[in-house]
Amino acid sequence: MTDDATRLITELTAIVEDFPKPGITFRDLTPVFADGPALRAVADALVAPWVGKIDAIAGVEARGFLLAAAAAYSVGLGVLVVRKPGKLPRETISESYDLEYGSTSLEVQPADFPAGTRVLVIDDILATGGTLAASSRLIERAGWQVAGISVVLELDALNGRAALPGRDIHSLQRV
Ligand code: AMP
Repeated sequence: MTDDATRLITELTAIVEDFPKPGITFRDLTPVFADGPALRAVADALVAPWVGKIDAIAGVEARGFLLAAAAAYSVGLGVLVVRKPGKLPRETISESYDLEYGSTSLEVQPADFPAGTRVLVIDDILATGGTLAASSRLIERAGWQVAGISVVLELDALNGRAALPGRDIHSLQRV
């Protein structure tokens, strides 16, 4: 199943040079999302190693939402949303992290799942790891457990794993 997903990711990912600024090679997964069999293969492969070991799937805004929802639907679990600031209406906790220029934050609503919930965290791309590190800290501060992390693409040159020590990371393709 993962082989099929990996082949489809290779075939369909659009590589865009110098976006959003000079020097960045942007990997656009939109064609993967647009292809029904590819979306299904990718969503299934993201969750496959964790079946029976997780209680919920977290998606990181925004592309992580698409993947987390598809993966959660395929195994009959619910989705935990890790959102950008100011979007969640009830009591939230927040984690800040650095971007290349400046910083930003992510939020969750602790009341959404019971303490101890085992969470698989899904995002599209592991680059520097800042986003997934902040998401993981947030999930643990909310009282949940990070069972693992799944991403479609891992950008090896940026060594995002170094920002996620001790985390169990499953990437469908490393580039
Ligand atoms: P990071 O926090 O550095 O691991 O970056 C995480 C987010 O930035 C990912 O969820 C991607 O959506 C986006 N991202 C980073 N680098 C790229 C890239 N080269 N192409 C497409 N998206 C990227």
